[in-house]
Amino acid sequence: MSKKITIIGAGFVGSTAAYALLAKHVADEISLIDINEKLVNSQVMDLQHSVPFFGLCKIKAGTYDDIKNSQVVVMAAGVSQKPGQTRFDLVKQNARIIRDITPKIFSKNPKVILLMVTNPVDILTYLACSLFPQKEKQIIGSGTVLDSARFRFLLGEYFKINPQSIHAYIVGEHGDSEVPLLSTATIGNMPITRFKNYSKKAILKIFEKAKNAAYSIIEGKQATYYAIGAGIAQICQAILHNENRVLPLSHLIHNQCGISDVALSLPTVLGDKGIVQELIFDICPEEMEKLKESAAMLKKVIKKNNIIYANIVKI
Ligand code: NAD
Repeated sequence: MSKKITIIGAGFVGSTAAYALLAKHVADEISLIDINEKLVNSQVMDLQHSVPFFGLCKIKAGTYDDIKNSQVVVMAAGVSQKPGQTRFDLVKQNARIIRDITPKIFSKNPKVILLMVTNPVDILTYLACSLFPQKEKQIIGSGTVLDSARFRFLLGEYFKINPQSIHAYIVGEHGDSEVPLLSTATIGNMPITRFKNYSKKAILKIFEKAKNAAYSIIEGKQATYYAIGAGIAQICQAILHNENRVLPLSHLIHNQCGISDVALSLPTVLGDKGIVQELIFDICPEEMEKLKESAAMLKKVIKKNNIIYANIVKI
């Protein structure tokens, strides 16, 4: 079967994701959809011209019909943060877009996996699950995949270790209440707390830098897209190549760490059917408390925006 991905939203994030997907040879076909026709056609032309460098992949401006034989839909449509805005400032506008688009996705292909990237990603992942509760295993958010990569990069610089050998997760909200799991972080198989140069104060400073990276980048260049593009490509690869890869993805939580009825990131195993396994992990009471606070913060936003399970969509 041909491996196909449809990306909705051909702005900074959607087009960079397509570029990373081409570079990593994840798919045979990529279709980009955007309400801005001129933009999507230009992005596609530019991306097509990289095919001779990267290798064959059919890339085109598409329609919702492309979802019929896609395995993944990447949702990157919507407004993005402006300098000074938080991700929650986007909820009203982007929730409208998700309410409009998700039924079109699942009516074209009830089996497709929906990867939410549009912010606030946890709230919109929850919204999509509330509209399609029967699809919750197929609905995931990029969550703290990006935040964890930023954290691992900075830890790598500090410890002078390749970040790919650093196993450290940020969990909870993709945003201001996210939580670094220092108690379970390792370099190779060694707890980072036992590594030479470990200092809780220094590591928490690094975490703050990772958490606030989006604000710094947006201040300088309006948007963040390279790292999330690479993250999207890794998530799609895990699905299309059934990798059963462990990633901290946003998904609907059912009684994990005493948390329920909210979407947030915890490490999960991702394969071609979506999330196939939750990881059980022991974290220290301080981190558990912070994770619960993050869940409570997300629930407040869900409630404030009246996102409820009464609006289930039948397709
Ligand atoms: P952008 O403005 O460059 O692109 C958004 C695109 O969506 C535009 O081209 C617009 O025409 C299109 N669009 C809007 N409504 C649409 C609709 N109904 N149907 C189809 N297309 C539509 O913004 P961006 O920088 O690419 O960011 C996109 C989203 O990704 C934002 O919400 C941003 O906050 C989010 N983001 C998420 C992460 C993450 O880690 N989850 C990281 C970076 C950005």
